[in-house]
Amino acid sequence: MNMKVSSPALHQLDQSHHFHPFTDLRDYAAHGGRIVNRAEHIYIYDTDGHRMLDGMSGLWCCNLGYSQHQIVEAIYRQLQELPFYNNFFRCSNQPAVELAKALVDITPARFNHVFFTNSGSEANDTNIRLVHRYYDLLGKPEKKLFISRKNAYHGSTIAAGSLGGMSGMHEQVRGLDYVHHINQPNWFVNGGDLSPEEFGIEVARELETKIDELGEERVAAFIAEPIQGAGGVIIPPDTYWPEIQRICDERDILLIADEVICGFGRTGDWFGSDTYQIKPQLMTFAKAITNGYIPLGGVMISDQIADVLLAHGGEFTHGLTYSGHPASCAAGLATLKTLHETNIIQTAATTIGPHLQSRLRELESHPIVGEVRGKGMFAALELVRDKHSRERLAPESTGAVYCRDRANANGLMVRQTGDAMITAPPLVSTMAEIDTLVEKLHQALDETAAHYGV
Ligand code: PMP
Repeated sequence: MNMKVSSPALHQLDQSHHFHPFTDLRDYAAHGGRIVNRAEHIYIYDTDGHRMLDGMSGLWCCNLGYSQHQIVEAIYRQLQELPFYNNFFRCSNQPAVELAKALVDITPARFNHVFFTNSGSEANDTNIRLVHRYYDLLGKPEKKLFISRKNAYHGSTIAAGSLGGMSGMHEQVRGLDYVHHINQPNWFVNGGDLSPEEFGIEVARELETKIDELGEERVAAFIAEPIQGAGGVIIPPDTYWPEIQRICDERDILLIADEVICGFGRTGDWFGSDTYQIKPQLMTFAKAITNGYIPLGGVMISDQIADVLLAHGGEFTHGLTYSGHPASCAAGLATLKTLHETNIIQTAATTIGPHLQSRLRELESHPIVGEVRGKGMFAALELVRDKHSRERLAPESTGAVYCRDRANANGLMVRQTGDAMITAPPLVSTMAEIDTLVEKLHQALDETAAHYGV
């Protein structure tokens, strides 16, 4: 370990000076956290000597784990050749051009243009800019409203946070008044006595009701993650997406698929839109496009929208200094090349993914597991005290927090969202590593059940 400062001193400095994202700042200043300073394959190492199996792929982004040296080298080579130049004012750079084409090649035929950002949040802000411009140019300036879903996550800028439906975030900032929310397709929590299929239709039709309520002439777009990630890996009932697609097709509104977590193999396909056979006009991407090694996000723009922007001309007054940064785009190209050459998405879909899903389903018989759901390489386990009534282990999700802490203490990085345990391991995990992940999760469940006397 190459440490210039001792671990206790580093913790002290971290607690004194570093405000962390989505963190209780007072609690962190008092108790601190984990300082990760090395990673290899699917393991992370901290300054206190712990090694953990990373069951979250970083933050759902290191889909190929931490040892993809060809991506690191691509970044390094690019930084030596052209460390920066912007894409404003009639300039471009080769990696940005090549990555745009590579993305066009792996997305459906209607996508022929890309706008680069640094993050998923900025990409969703870009979606709003594109959609508003599109309808303005079509002579429909009154079409400005967006419909999203409660408990969605679309990022943390003010616009992306408004598109999201996390109530805790909305409590701390005044969201945009042109974003409206409908319910999420979370059958376990909201399905009541309906079958998942019935519930899927019912909750999808809320979109139709909301369009009628707001007025179709004012509604611009509906945005959704194919599978809600941060909200709790919410797998929609099979009936949900076909009904949403029908409504979008019948109404004059755009469909935006936020592929920031689903994209680049997580669902077992290139994109979650492929998995659910949906036809969005815009697709948001970020995270795994560079395997998480360097920031990059963007929006895939379908011909329906691009043609209008191209036909009308006039400046699109939007851009970021680092839109299409050469080093980020070089990383994106190296990541896509690796995905193509290793066939890892196909492997994940046919071997590792099914293994993860079937091993996790074994935990369904555990006394505190109410539901196991998942697809491809991510999953959630709902924790309960009573399987039948779905009564929770403890108030305010403290049961799942306890379980997460036990898993972490046992060397497994997983996350807790509400009362669910979440995992999204790298696609490069081996069968044996998935077995270890499930065993460690099982152990955490046992310890949690014992703690709560279930
Ligand atoms: N959309 C989705 C679906 C996400 O999961 C996230 C991040 N977790 C974002 C957007 C925002 O991306 P970023 O954190 O890169 O801004």
